Amino acid sequence: MVQKESSISDQSVSVPLDLLGKASLVTGASRGIGAAIAIALSKAGSDVAVNYAREELAAQEVANTVSIIGRHALKSKFDVTNFNEVKNAIDRIAEDFGHIDILVNNAGINRDRTLLKMSPQEWSEVMKVNLDGMFNVTKAVLPHMLKGGWGRIINLSSIIGLTGNVGQSNYAASKAGIIGFSKSIAKELASKQITVNVIAPGFTTTSMVESLPEEIKSSLIQRIPMKRFANPQEIGDLVAYLASPRSAYITGEVITIGGGLNL
Ligand code: NDP
Repeated sequence: MVQKESSISDQSVSVPLDLLGKASLVTGASRGIGAAIAIALSKAGSDVAVNYAREELAAQEVANTVSIIGRHALKSKFDVTNFNEVKNAIDRIAEDFGHIDILVNNAGINRDRTLLKMSPQEWSEVMKVNLDGMFNVTKAVLPHMLKGGWGRIINLSSIIGLTGNVGQSNYAASKAGIIGFSKSIAKELASKQITVNVIAPGFTTTSMVESLPEEIKSSLIQRIPMKRFANPQEIGDLVAYLASPRSAYITGEVITIGGGLNL
């Protein structure tokens, strides 16, 4: 009996997150969570297209890291809000890699203000990047994924999309919208060996959180049962698992990673 248990655990440890031969696209991969995801996917064996909108040097550094890890890296500049720009860039990535197997819709912004003070522009900027961007990129990648007959789509929502937050009605609405979108296409694609899942992180140490005033950060940490923010690598590791063949039977799920924040 003891022997059987140890052989089961040995077996689970020895199966790698085998992404060798796969090609991934990560949007908003120049920094923060997206950069950590690109690196985690390359460590698991995948070639990676590193998308960015403005920060070319930062994107180059991420691409260099992917190359040092030993995987093929492509730096790809496009604004997720521009349908034609997205389509052209993604067709070029597919031509270069020969296929696109894994898509991580990570690019996202916030424009925080309470509803009374929020401008129509602050509302629509967030919707354009967080929702229209996800539509544009997914629609452009899908024909390539269907051609390959296998795929993983992983979309970044937020715990705020589940709970709401003062000053974030635009951001929370967009992040809740991502969940409805993902569950719908998970149903559309379930029979095609393409899974679609959502990761909803809590507060994570990137510029989005680091730019908050110290007193706000301390009060946020008090609300987290684990009393710390997430490291971007922790989100990257979860993405690598969901991108791997080992997650084949998980689709349409929302997986929170928040140190207990949503308990
Ligand atoms: P950052 O602000 O650190 O990075 C945002 C990334 O998105 C950058 O690479 C940026 O590229 C890119 N980006 C922004 N606008 C566009 C655009 N129009 N087209 C293409 N790329 C764009 O964000 P985080 O790493 O903190 O967040 C990543 C994702 O995780 C977001 O979707 C966010 O909502 C979500 N999230 C973050 C949490 C956190 O606590 N940090 C918590 C929960 C969810 P460039 O710099 O080149 O413009």
